[in-house]
Amino acid sequence: MSIIDYYKHYPDEESCKLKFKAVRDKQGVICKKCGCTDHYWKGDKWSYECKQCRFRTSLRSGTVLQSSKLPFQYWFIAMHLLTATKKSFSAKEMQRQLGHNRYEPIWAMMHKIRSVMGLRDDTHTLTEAIELDEGFFETVDRDRDKDEPNKRGRGSQRQTTVLVMVESKDNPDNTKRNRPDKKVKYLKMKVINNLRSETINQKIEIGVDKGTHMTTDDYSSYKKISSTVEHTAHKVNTANVNKLLPWVHKAISNAKRLLLDVHHRIDDDFLQNYLNEFCYKFNRRYFGERTMERLLIAGVQHQWNEL
Ligand SMILES: [Zn+2]
Repeated sequence: MSIIDYYKHYPDEESCKLKFKAVRDKQGVICKKCGCTDHYWKGDKWSYECKQCRFRTSLRSGTVLQSSKLPFQYWFIAMHLLTATKKSFSAKEMQRQLGHNRYEPIWAMMHKIRSVMGLRDDTHTLTEAIELDEGFFETVDRDRDKDEPNKRGRGSQRQTTVLVMVESKDNPDNTKRNRPDKKVKYLKMKVINNLRSETINQKIEIGVDKGTHMTTDDYSSYKKISSTVEHTAHKVNTANVNKLLPWVHKAISNAKRLLLDVHHRIDDDFLQNYLNEFCYKFNRRYFGERTMERLLIAGVQHQWNEL
């Protein structure tokens, strides 16, 4: 959506609220007290009232906007900017663009949106053929230095391990030179605490369909890959890497570049959220204008439990 179209659709707070209500009406409201799904709309209170027990549900309650005091307009602008731009946005930049005086609520809003992106992508599994590898992302561990006053606030550098899985199929129609021999579809990136095979297998069993074909290098953790998938390990070197694992390495280096460009120092606790954003956008790269609408639907459906 272009910025002109965006402002045509959502010029003010009222139009954002009405759109949010339209999305919510379509998804349906469930009464927290009695589970009833029939509600009256109380226009003067911007709330739904349960037809059975009269319990009121505000427009925000039970959605990603629950407990946020920021205007709907902020959420809409943030969702627009996060989905319409190829790069990302720092919370500092968003704060500047919105002209808001406090940083924390803007920062929290953006992380909530990224969490929704991750929850939504978690509802899909990868299938057919997958490249799998690990990447190491430079992050900052702020907790570790809490007791050392000199270092407080800076945090110490560390490498955070990320398991990357990319759907990629052989592409027999490929006639262009210098293009990978495989076609890429969807991807997942998950922060992991270690490279033990149990850890890797757990991610595979949640995120990948049974019987999927998986290509990896011959790293030892990949030797005991889950029996739910078919697995081939290769000796990977510079000569064959572009044939065997072209997309997983491209995805890792693109994600690193993008994150470093925009965020500079990434707190290890929040790396997963930034990866969520990267994957969400990559997985919807052909959605065009519908991406924001889809994100709104996801935001209505997924409630974010306290940061
Ligand atoms: Zn009720």
